[in-house]
Amino acid sequence: MQEIGHWINGKRVAGKSGRFADIYNPATGEIQAKVALASPEELDHAIAEAAKAQVAWAATNPQRRARVMMAFGALINQNMDKLAELVSREHGKTLPDARGDVQRGLEVVEVCMGAPAMLKGEMTDSAGPGIDLYAMRQPLGVVAGITPFNFPAMIPLWKMAPALASGNAMILKPSERVPSTSLLLAELLQEAGLPDGVLQVVNGDKSVVDGILDHPVIQGVGFVGSTPIAQYIYGRAATNGKRAQCFGGAKNHMIIMPDADLDKAADALIGAGYGAAGERCMAISVAVPVGAQTADALIERLVPRIEKLKVGPYTAGDDVDFGPLITRQAQERVLGLIGSGVEQGAKLVVDGRGLKIQGYESGFFVGPTLFDDVTPEMEIYRQEIFGPVLSTVRKDSYEDALKLVMDNEYGNGTAIYTADGDTARDFASRVNVGMVGINFPIPVPLSYYSFGGWKRSAFGDLNQYGPDAFRFYTKTKTVTARWFSGIKEGAALNFKAMD
Ligand code: NAD
Repeated sequence: MQEIGHWINGKRVAGKSGRFADIYNPATGEIQAKVALASPEELDHAIAEAAKAQVAWAATNPQRRARVMMAFGALINQNMDKLAELVSREHGKTLPDARGDVQRGLEVVEVCMGAPAMLKGEMTDSAGPGIDLYAMRQPLGVVAGITPFNFPAMIPLWKMAPALASGNAMILKPSERVPSTSLLLAELLQEAGLPDGVLQVVNGDKSVVDGILDHPVIQGVGFVGSTPIAQYIYGRAATNGKRAQCFGGAKNHMIIMPDADLDKAADALIGAGYGAAGERCMAISVAVPVGAQTADALIERLVPRIEKLKVGPYTAGDDVDFGPLITRQAQERVLGLIGSGVEQGAKLVVDGRGLKIQGYESGFFVGPTLFDDVTPEMEIYRQEIFGPVLSTVRKDSYEDALKLVMDNEYGNGTAIYTADGDTARDFASRVNVGMVGINFPIPVPLSYYSFGGWKRSAFGDLNQYGPDAFRFYTKTKTVTARWFSGIKEGAALNFKAMD
């Protein structure tokens, strides 16, 4: 059985704790590898070595650091197929979707090639007699990235690229379900010229995360995962005086107005609802058609599209639309939620339970599922299902639909399909959600903007990647400097204006 260890000081090292977690092949249900869970001593060692390496890395000029990002980007491109295969092997998503996972991470690396421009400070000359005032951005030191299972390449890249380009060292703790992609990315970074020790990949579970949160050397924590864990990590990191940004779960709604192009809206819902088996924090899980006619016409269009979807292992070819869920536990949870929807009175239009794929009977598959007549009290509405289940909540007016979105505890992404510019503009302006799509189902901002939700989808300040990431991974130091030529002023005891 393959044993996956850690990446410490530029080398793959075996775990020494004797503790391991199983990594499944989600399509077969079999254990395919074991990942080591680091001990407190292994974590301490990784952090101590990172702190040493960070000093020289921070002193490396930003342009040289950016060149490492350039070489890294080229290597990611060269290794695209290998990275995508690793993503699919552990996560189960299709290969085209896995390539997208790598690609959206690569785009953040590309922005980090321009890091020197993002790291510039500010200056005011002659702020007073002989006085110049300037502010510089300095790295935090050693920071941590703690990432979820659902984007094994993209989210580690969102964390590591801006943190490293800003002159920090990083302890990356990837999801214990999908550790291999992060290890390969670490190898590519070394090949790109990153000094050993600047990125340490420490595999582990809650105990490693707690060790990170309590460690005095760690200055900042970037987390992505579920909301309860995001809130916990934010609280514990903040109590320990660390800068923290923790991105959580979601329940993303799409409003479909009566004037929308319903074929386009149905296509969008298929992609955004069922792509990656719904295991995306930006998946649309709630369709909100406005008016009974719109709702009926939408359901009529969704059903044949859903019936055409092909579910299977990624190895079955590029015509597979989506793969299995990540674990048996996730599969059972989603099946249980579908059952609760039926019990609580939602109309099950397409039932994905009982899907069997020949040769993969023990895989963690759930077929595409569609509910109609869902109400906000139902469990299937209240919970982030994180599976291929789309709920329809019917509303009679735009205001009612908007209120539903606004009242939801999550605020990651949302979308509206309409032909009316005024409605779209009103929606974008009023909705209390961080990322908004207009006739666009998954509005993940491009890498030169920043990504982040509102409400219980994010805890802490600043968003991830883009300009916000450079702010998060640096602290500002402001210097007031005076040179005395021509100044005769003696001792001054009063606090006063500089002029
Ligand atoms: P998760 O919260 O279970 O795990 C995320 C990370 O936290 C992992 O590295 C895990 O090892 C660690 N962890 C788990 N339990 C912990 C605990 N009790 N204490 C400390 N650390 C713990 O999330 P997941 O199942 O891997 O990922 C799916 C979730 O991530 C979904 O809720 C999804 O919406 C969310 N997500 C959010 C975003 C975003 O940007 N908002 C992006 C992707 C995924």
